[in-house]
Amino acid sequence: MKRSRKRKHELINGSGKKNEKEELKTTAAAKVEQITAELQTASSADPKAFDPVEKIKTGFIHFKKEKYDKNPALYSELSKGQSPKYMVFACSDSRVCPSHVLDFQPGEAFVVRNVANMVPPFDKTKYSGVGAAVEYAVLHLKVEYIVVIGHSACGGIKGLMSFPYDGTTSTDFIEDWVKVCYPARTKILAAHANSPFPDLCTECEKEAVNVSLGHLLTYPFVRDGLVNKTLGLKGGYYDFVKGSFELWGLEYSLSPSLSALFTAAFSFSLPLLGKGCGHHTSLEAIGTCLKVMIPAEMRPSSLDLLPVIMEFGLYV
Ligand SMILES: [Zn+2]
Repeated sequence: MKRSRKRKHELINGSGKKNEKEELKTTAAAKVEQITAELQTASSADPKAFDPVEKIKTGFIHFKKEKYDKNPALYSELSKGQSPKYMVFACSDSRVCPSHVLDFQPGEAFVVRNVANMVPPFDKTKYSGVGAAVEYAVLHLKVEYIVVIGHSACGGIKGLMSFPYDGTTSTDFIEDWVKVCYPARTKILAAHANSPFPDLCTECEKEAVNVSLGHLLTYPFVRDGLVNKTLGLKGGYYDFVKGSFELWGLEYSLSPSLSALFTAAFSFSLPLLGKGCGHHTSLEAIGTCLKVMIPAEMRPSSLDLLPVIMEFGLYV
């Protein structure tokens, strides 16, 4: 307290900077020494104390012995290349690793993980990282399905539902990133205005998956894959509280003229011919979202309808 008052004084007067710097240096060095000593004491006093390096070492040794060495055929095949059937978007959350939850083996899924498993719309500069992954998966690896998986108790979605979005910000990146699925928030707040906040978040975790599926349609090579029926899109939701997994799919049946419209004009809307799908009535959100994203001048005056067939499964 005393020091901080002194520092303030010196900064205001522009004097004593050198001494202050030296003092800070000494303090920092002492602090580093103290932390190092504490860490050493902790690790020598408690042999079970967490050792991050040791954890990685033993982890790899276990994998090498139990997996790699026991599956020479698999790893020899993978050394030549990969041809995964799935591209998966999953949250960075440490509890929802898709390889664990869905038992994907090495070579089976090309995975992108980010905060709240979001797929942003096609944008060469703002979202080039995600764009590169989608492009590589679809055009080079030729994956057959893109699966976007949401999950229970998602911190990113909680953020999306609670950030004020009134021009103020409290984070450098998070608010802007999760805003990618803002249409989900709008829809859920409108449809479930009186629900408790945790319920709103649960609904939004699922709705945001549909918004991401809609964003995937803004990638020309994804649209081409759907038109040519070489690619399918799936939505998923892993509830680690209940221990359940839901999967739903979208299949697009396009008329040739609509396919052309798809490619040429970048403009379309989604009709709602989905069969009953519980809470996932939210294809509207995709339509809404796309209408929001597509500049008005690029939209046709009369919106074409796109048949959508949905399938839905709940696995417990
Ligand atoms: Zn999450």
